[in-house]
Amino acid sequence: MKITLLIACILAGAVVSAQQSQTSPAQSPPAQPPPAPTGYQDTPMQPNGKWHIHDGMRPQPRVVTPGPLVSLAPPSDAVVLLGSGQDLSRWQMTQGGGQVSWPVASGILSSGNGMIRTTQDDFTNYQLHIEFATPTEVKGNSQGRGNSGVFLNGVFEIQVLDSFENITYPDGQASAMYGQFPPMVNASRKPGEWQSYDIVFTGPRFNGTTLERPAMVTVLHNGVTVHAAQAFLGPTGHKQIGTYAPAHAKGYIGLQDHGNPVRFRNIWLRPLVPAQ
Ligand code: MG
Repeated sequence: MKITLLIACILAGAVVSAQQSQTSPAQSPPAQPPPAPTGYQDTPMQPNGKWHIHDGMRPQPRVVTPGPLVSLAPPSDAVVLLGSGQDLSRWQMTQGGGQVSWPVASGILSSGNGMIRTTQDDFTNYQLHIEFATPTEVKGNSQGRGNSGVFLNGVFEIQVLDSFENITYPDGQASAMYGQFPPMVNASRKPGEWQSYDIVFTGPRFNGTTLERPAMVTVLHNGVTVHAAQAFLGPTGHKQIGTYAPAHAKGYIGLQDHGNPVRFRNIWLRPLVPAQ
């Protein structure tokens, strides 16, 4: 009888102990925001018939450590969109067209409220150099860490994200053609370090309203080729792929506000004019 009572007391103590260990973590606030989704299976299928848009089961690109940053200075015929000065005269807010409210100092532009775009909106075929840095202090996860984006012709996004040891759906990681093609490899640098995109883009071509040639892009991330003459399936979007329209043949360069602080510098563009 005594032994039975002793076992009962031990078991009761174990239950109380287990309950305490289950409840105690919930009493302290989490150090990080709750995990953001790292993929979806309820989105439309890609035209390849293999993966959903933002499919978390799609293989993660292999990690490649890039060489040291080469901060390419603009060539003499470049349109300097963001130079070493503080002049944002080539930019405007995307909504409303007002003066850019993002803070800029010593040639470094920090993301703020609302998307911004170039004032020029008739870019067609171009080489674009852009440098960015995600925050040194890591906050958030998946799509909630260092998210911004470079919009080509206003509607084709090359994703900006902190993809250093940060799992997300492959078609949404840094340098992805957002929602369409993951980069061939993950050439991301560490949080806080300056990174570069060198982008060669040709806009879509139409015969009347008929698409004759899709938008094509080649992207080097930190000097590493991650897309080679890859065609966009249409305008990029969250959980969707848009439909081509003649208006997409030309457009502006846009930078995304996704609620995460991201810095930019040394942005320049060269229109591509074929030799005669
Ligand atoms: Mg983005």
